Amino acid sequence: MNLKELTLEELGKKFRIKGDYHTHTVYSKVGPYLHGKGRIIDNAAAASAKGLEELAITDHGPTDFYGLDQKKIPQMREDIKNAVQAYPDLKIYLGVEADIVDTPNGLDVSPEDFGLYDFVNAGYHYVPNCHMIANWIAFHLPYPAAGREKLRRMNTERIVRALKSNNIRILTHPGDKAFIDEHAVAKACEETGTLVEVNVRHRHPNLEDLKIYASYDVKYIIDSDAHSPDKVGRYVKSLALAISAGISPDRIVNIEELRSE
Ligand SMILES: [Zn+2]
Ligand SMILES: [Zn+2]
Repeated sequence: MNLKELTLEELGKKFRIKGDYHTHTVYSKVGPYLHGKGRIIDNAAAASAKGLEELAITDHGPTDFYGLDQKKIPQMREDIKNAVQAYPDLKIYLGVEADIVDTPNGLDVSPEDFGLYDFVNAGYHYVPNCHMIANWIAFHLPYPAAGREKLRRMNTERIVRALKSNNIRILTHPGDKAFIDEHAVAKACEETGTLVEVNVRHRHPNLEDLKIYASYDVKYIIDSDAHSPDKVGRYVKSLALAISAGISPDRIVNIEELRSE
C-alpha cells in the first residue's frame, strides 16, 4: 500500500500516537499573560481522553519571555502527582523546552539544573542571546543573502554545539525561527541520537527540510507542541508530512500501526 495516497482520516485510523512529549501549560507565561492556556491536569485529561499512554509537560526554558520559573518546579511535580492520581493509566513526565542560546553549554538550562527534569528538549526561539533580532528580521522581512548565510552558519554552529554538549532528547521544530544547515544538524542528531521533531505547528521543518533529514540515520518523533489542551495528541498532519518526505512511520518512535481486524 502506498501510504502517500491515504487521506488524513485513513492515516488516523491506521496509525496512533502513543505519547506526546512536547506540550505547554499555564507555567509558560509572562506576567499575567498565559502563553500556555491549560493547567497540567487539563493537558492530562485531554491526553487520557485521546488514549495516549504518555504525556510530557515541557514548558519554555527559564530565560524565554514566556519561560517557566524553575522555583515552581516542586508545584509542577505536585500538579503532576495529582494528575496521575486522576488519570492513573497515563504516565506523565516533567520536561522542559530549553532555549538554544549563547551560554557555556548552549542552553538556558545549565548542566546542574538538568536533574530538575525527567528529560530536556531544546529548540530555537526568539529570546535574547541568540541573534534574536537578526533571526526575526531574516525570517519575516527581506534580508541580504550574505547576511542570511552568516546567520545560518552561526545558528547551525550553536545548535550543533548544544546537541553535542548536552543530553537532549528532542530537537524541537528544527529550522523554525533560525535558518540552519539541515545537513549539519541532521548529522549531529544522528551522532548524538537526538530525536528530530516533526511538528506542523511551525513552518519548519517543512517537506524540503524533512527530505534532507530522511537521508540520515535519525529517528523522529511527532509532537503536538500544544499550547491549549484541545491540541494535545494531534499527530495526523505531521504524520502525513513525514510520509510525504519519504520517512517510514516505523522511524517515528511514538507512532504505532494499528492492526486491522
Ligand atoms: Zn518551541
Ligand atoms: Zn513548544
